[in-house]
Amino acid sequence: MRLVLVAILWIGCSSATRVRFDNHTLYRFTPKDDQAIDTLRQLEQSVGYDFWTSVNGVGMPVDILVPPQKKREIMEVVEALAVDQEILMSNIQEEIDREAGSLRAGDTFGWNSYHTIEEIYNWLRSLSTKYPKIVTLVEAGRSHENRPVLGVKVSFGKATGQRQAVWIDSNIHAREWISGAVNTYILNALLTSTDRSIRNLAERHDWYIFPVLNPDGFHYTYTTNRMWRKTRTPYGLCVGADPNRNWDYKWNQGGSSSIPCTETYAGPRAFSEACTASTSRYLGGIAKELLVYVSFHSYSQMLLLPYGHTAQHLDNYNVTYPIAVEAANSLTKRYGTRYTVGNVAETIYVATGSSMDWLKGVHHVPFAYTYELRDTGKYGFLLPADQIIPTAEETLDSVLTIVREADKISEKVL
Ligand SMILES: [Zn+2]
Repeated sequence: MRLVLVAILWIGCSSATRVRFDNHTLYRFTPKDDQAIDTLRQLEQSVGYDFWTSVNGVGMPVDILVPPQKKREIMEVVEALAVDQEILMSNIQEEIDREAGSLRAGDTFGWNSYHTIEEIYNWLRSLSTKYPKIVTLVEAGRSHENRPVLGVKVSFGKATGQRQAVWIDSNIHAREWISGAVNTYILNALLTSTDRSIRNLAERHDWYIFPVLNPDGFHYTYTTNRMWRKTRTPYGLCVGADPNRNWDYKWNQGGSSSIPCTETYAGPRAFSEACTASTSRYLGGIAKELLVYVSFHSYSQMLLLPYGHTAQHLDNYNVTYPIAVEAANSLTKRYGTRYTVGNVAETIYVATGSSMDWLKGVHHVPFAYTYELRDTGKYGFLLPADQIIPTAEETLDSVLTIVREADKISEKVL
C-alpha cells in the first residue's frame, strides 16, 4: 500500500512539473512582401513565441507555436500584413500525449519508438561489449550538468590513410528526436546489414557516431519540456544557449541572438557551452581523419551545405553541391520524399556558429552536410514514431551516396 502511495505521489510530482502545451497552436504564416518579413523578424526576436522554422523570404512559410494568451496579439499583427495563414496543429498537447503513449519504457532497443538518453547510452555500451574489436565507446565531452557526450567509433580495421573517417551527429537541438533515432538506425545498419554495398562502405571507413550532442537538453525534453531546443546552462532569468549557434567560426555574425531568452541565443561567447566546447576539442583532435561530416536536424526536408554566413559558393561547393543533389535523389527513390538542396544562407536563412561551418571553415573537412529530416510541418518536431524506420531507411540511402561519391572524389584529388 505504501509503495503504491509513493508511486502515485511520484507520478503526481513528475507530471506536475511537466510543461504542458494545452491549446498551443502551430500556425504557418507565409509572408507575401518585405514588410511582412520585417514584422515577423521582429516577432522572432521577442519572447513568447516559439518559431519552429525561421523567417526566410517572400513566399517561404514560417511555422510559429503560439500559446493561447498570445493568439489575439498575433492575429492582430498578421491581419494587418500581407500574410497567408493556416493552422498546422490546433493543440499540440494532443500530439505530445499521443507520442508519450507510444513510448515503451523498458522495451528492447529498436526503432518503433523513441528512446531516452539512458536507453540510447545503454545500447551504445552494449554494442561495445557485443563487438569489442569493432566498436569503441567514446566520451567526446561533458555537458553543463555533467552528462557524457557519448558516442562510438566503429572500425573494422581496414581504413587506411588520412581523410577516411565519417562523423555523424544528431540531437544538438534537443527536441529534434527523429535526428537521434535515424542516427542510431544507421549505426545499427553499419554493424548488422548484410547488403554488400553497405558492408563495403561500412568496412572501408572509420565511423564516429554521436546520437546526442546536447545531452542535458535532450534529457529535459523527456522529463520536463518536450519542446526544449537549447542547452541547460543558466543565463540570468532564462536557461540555455543554442548549441548550434555556439561554434567558433563566424560566431554571432548573423542569424543568432545576443538575448538569452530567445531560442537562437548564441551564448555569451563562442564555445560557452560545456557540450560544444568539450566536443569541439575532441573533434579538433580527429578532424584530419574526417572525409565526411554529417549533422542531423529536423524538420523541413533539406540537405544543406556550408556556409551559413554567406550565400556565396565557397571552397569546393562546385564538388559538394552535385553530390548533395545526388544524395537527395537517392533519398527520394525509396518513398518519394522530396528534399531541397543548397547552401544554408541561400536556402533557408543566415545562421552562424553551426557545427558544420566550424568543421568546414576551421578544419577544412572536405564534405560537410546538414540534414533537416522529415517532415515539412504536418507534425514538425512531433514526428510520429511509425515514421522513424522509413525516415531512417531513406536517409541511410542518402548518406551512403554521399560517402560513396566522396570516396570517388578523394581517390582522385586528396
Ligand atoms: Zn536543429
